[in-house]
Amino acid sequence: MNTSRRSFLKTASLIAGAAAVPVSFMSREAYAAKVAKAAMQYQDSPKGSAECSTCMQFIPGKSASAKGQCKVVEGDISPKGWCLAYTAKS
Ligand code: SF4
Repeated sequence: MNTSRRSFLKTASLIAGAAAVPVSFMSREAYAAKVAKAAMQYQDSPKGSAECSTCMQFIPGKSASAKGQCKVVEGDISPKGWCLAYTAKS
C-alpha cells in the first residue's frame, strides 16, 4: 500500500470514527475540525466531470465562481476543485 492510499484510508477511518461519536459529546472545536487539503489530495482543478460545485460537501461562496468552503476539507475551496472525498450530489 503506498503512502497516499494509506494516508487516505487513515483519514477516512478518522472521519468515519468522528461520525460515530454523538454530537453532544463533541466540543465545538472538535466538531469543526477538518482534514488538510494535502491529506485528501485536494486540487484546484476538476477530476474529469467531478468538481466541488457538484459535491454534496461543498458550501458555495458568494457567487458561482467564488471560492467556498467544504464540510470535510479545511481552507478556501474552489468550485472547480476536487479531492478524494468527492461525493456527487444526489
Ligand atoms: S469533499 Fe472534496 S470534492 Fe467535495 S467539496 Fe470538499 S474538497 Fe471539494
